[in-house]
Amino acid sequence: MKILVLNCGSSSVKYQLIDISSEEALVNGIVERIGIEGSFLEQEIGSEEIQIEKEVEDHSQAINLVINTLLDDEKGYLEDIEEISAVGHRVVHGGEKFSESVEITGEVIEQIEEVSDLAPLHNPPNLAGIRVCRDLLPNISQVAVFDTSFHQTMPEKAYMYALPYEYYEEYGVRRYGFHGTSHKYVARRAAALMERDIEDLNIITCHLGNGASLAAVKEGSSVDTSMGLTPLEGLVMGTRCGDIDPAIVPFLQKREDLSPEEIDDVMNKNSGMLGLSGISNDARDIEEAAEEGDERAKLTEDVFCYRVKKYIGAYAAAMGGLDCVVFTAGIGENSVTMREKILKDLDFLGLEIDDKANQIRGEEKIITNPNSETAAAVIPTNEELMIARDTARIAGILQ
Ligand code: AMP
Repeated sequence: MKILVLNCGSSSVKYQLIDISSEEALVNGIVERIGIEGSFLEQEIGSEEIQIEKEVEDHSQAINLVINTLLDDEKGYLEDIEEISAVGHRVVHGGEKFSESVEITGEVIEQIEEVSDLAPLHNPPNLAGIRVCRDLLPNISQVAVFDTSFHQTMPEKAYMYALPYEYYEEYGVRRYGFHGTSHKYVARRAAALMERDIEDLNIITCHLGNGASLAAVKEGSSVDTSMGLTPLEGLVMGTRCGDIDPAIVPFLQKREDLSPEEIDDVMNKNSGMLGLSGISNDARDIEEAAEEGDERAKLTEDVFCYRVKKYIGAYAAAMGGLDCVVFTAGIGENSVTMREKILKDLDFLGLEIDDKANQIRGEEKIITNPNSETAAAVIPTNEELMIARDTARIAGILQ
């Protein structure tokens, strides 16, 4: 039983073909530069990598290229399109409408459209992918898996902003949170690694990638998360500023004569690690420059790690205790230095890092001393597998 998992961005389509019985990724690929000159497809099947350079104007052409490549006699994996049992689509924003993954119908498409103004950069390409697949594969079940749905269990006190209440009623202005599929996956894996029931645990999951967020997962459910109405709030990210005094926005708009779109760009594209360091949005470049003594790079690392540390303290308080801190995504899985800085001096929370165990990249491991009261673990995320599992369950495909 094979599930095709699609993640349609504004100029890219990532895909995986997953065997749901073995949970193995059979094919891994991406179409990049959609609608931009120089588009191409890259695909891996085991150790075999291919690249196809082809102009791809829109998502329809991109998904056609994916399917034709999967069916190709030489480069492909499938003999017949019918071998795909279902398609799982990553959808970034489900608003308050979706607290679970759902089978896609005409009504679901309309509902996703209704919340699209909450994620204008993300939901339209997600929808484009859904529409193309429904046309191309009309007999195959399609399932939407939302980044926001895991966080729909947050209590009101965690998701309401102290703005006039009518903005919530009229426009849905509240915290939604993102990276839900990742937070849910790593929290469950952490409980399994600790050989404990997730229902008995308070877990803080740190998804630290180019986009970054934390979640407080109490008894298996998200009770708070650092991203908000949009993925801009919370931690310092590659190019996003995260939490700032909201009064900075009109202040800078006036001083720099910036339109709403321009200040939005400053905060989303020119801030975070890139803006602070003036070097790069890539944590590896920052670490390298910091090691060579660059003061702004050191400051960037410090600000990034301090923000994560503050949230860990806040979420331990919010949950009334802490059993495990999980690190995932590019930085969380790979950066020994950042993990060390974040966990340093958190012994008052029962966290004692094991420096030797922490010397790992990209593998599942507990990185605290065996006698540490609270555990910390590295868990590589696997959002595609979570999407495939939900898709199989909802499409009624037996594992
Ligand atoms: P993601 O968005 O999950 O792909 O994560 C991207 C981020 O992970 C980038 O900031 C990378 O610099 C960072 N990253 C990847 N590998 C490493 C590494 N070995 N050490 C430090 N950061 C890394």
